[in-house]
Amino acid sequence: MSNEEEEKILLESIDSCRLLVKERSRLLGRSLTYHVTTFGCQMNAKDSEKLSGILEAAGFEREEDELAADFVLYNTCTIRDNANQKFFGHLGSIGAVKKKNPDMMIGVCGCLSQERSAREKITQSYPFVDLIFGTHNLFDFPQLLYKLLTRQVTKGKGHLISEFWDDTDRIVENIPSRRNYKFKSGVNIMFGCNNFCSYCIVPYVRGREKSRASSDIIDEIKRLADDGVKEVMLLGQNVNSYGRGLSEDINFARLLEKVEEVSGISRIRFMTSHPKDLSDDLIDVMAASKKICRHIHLPLQSGSSRILESMNRQYTKESYLSLAAKIRERIPGIALTTDIIVGYPGETDADVDDTIDVIEKVQFDGAFTFIYSERTGTRAASMPDKVSAKEAARNFERVLAKVQETSQKRAKLIEGMTGDVLVEDINRQDSSLVTGRLSNNLNVHFPGDASLIGQIVRVHLSECRGFYYIGERA
Ligand code: SF4
Repeated sequence: MSNEEEEKILLESIDSCRLLVKERSRLLGRSLTYHVTTFGCQMNAKDSEKLSGILEAAGFEREEDELAADFVLYNTCTIRDNANQKFFGHLGSIGAVKKKNPDMMIGVCGCLSQERSAREKITQSYPFVDLIFGTHNLFDFPQLLYKLLTRQVTKGKGHLISEFWDDTDRIVENIPSRRNYKFKSGVNIMFGCNNFCSYCIVPYVRGREKSRASSDIIDEIKRLADDGVKEVMLLGQNVNSYGRGLSEDINFARLLEKVEEVSGISRIRFMTSHPKDLSDDLIDVMAASKKICRHIHLPLQSGSSRILESMNRQYTKESYLSLAAKIRERIPGIALTTDIIVGYPGETDADVDDTIDVIEKVQFDGAFTFIYSERTGTRAASMPDKVSAKEAARNFERVLAKVQETSQKRAKLIEGMTGDVLVEDINRQDSSLVTGRLSNNLNVHFPGDASLIGQIVRVHLSECRGFYYIGERA
């Protein structure tokens, strides 16, 4: 079936759902409500915007209180075993709510539901779940929703409604979406991952890499710009390999050039980059760009070449350092942030010393530092030489202290200068301030009101407070 045919079926299914939602609302004497709870990364947040868009197109109204919604959909993450435990605890508590309100509908989707063992657990231990579907079946959601609503409207009984595929090459365009922000939006440019880093479950639950056609991406960004979006975040597990497998002659650097041409878009961000695929071409395009933000998130994971090899990261300490130096040299003012795992199987103090050495040499502007957490189903989970919790915690503190030192030093470098801030919100602690981001991703708080939200404002960076700035309009 072609993607156009898939799109047609999706829209027809939404129309069919709308009739059932209308009928159910008439019987209840009020609107039917939904709540989507999102766990995990930006890709999941983007998927949740689509799930919410489908539900609203079908006639549901958003309900902020998860416990009060008629339909609750959990978009799950399975990156760590303890994230799974947390989710199952949460699911158990919603079961108690459903006991009191048997008409409540509960759905589970996302990465966790893609795993067979998790699905079996849900079927056996959480029989109150009505609907479950995998990461490759988001496009089937309207059809599954239709089945669920039919069952409810006809008061029919039935088993769990479910749909799973192991992988897919389907990319259905033009799915309705409910954006969380008026002025910024994520845009999927590719799905899946081919890298199989030894600690990571993503390739197993998100499938093989597939890129969207550049014309589809640009059309979406043009529509977003027409709708008031100023900043787009191009999303993929490994954006640097964008274009592989497409019939058109394109790569990530060329795609960025095309996005740059879209009028109305002032800022372009992207994530995530894999160091092994970040090309000179991309660095040149970024250096010449007026719109691509001065920030690259470049996951390091470890500074030890031995550990990197075991992780299957396909770069070494030395190659990472030379890439980072090249980026800093060619793109002045660029912020480099990273992810670091401490306590990976077999890691010694000397390996952690290597990581600290890289942090010192690169002078990261920020880092998400994690203690390694075993993920069942990955290669690393069966590796010997587990690092004790005590050792991991000690080394984690060492790494964190170095990251904090370099990121504070880097942030301070622009004190007293001015910069453009995209205002995102009213400050949560002090409502006389607004909060926004510089191109380099640093947060800035300065006096202002809600009328500034979504605007790019020139701000004097008066005072660096560690990892953020207090400023005033320039
Ligand atoms: S690049 Fe590695 S860490 Fe990132 S999603 Fe793919 S396998 Fe996971």
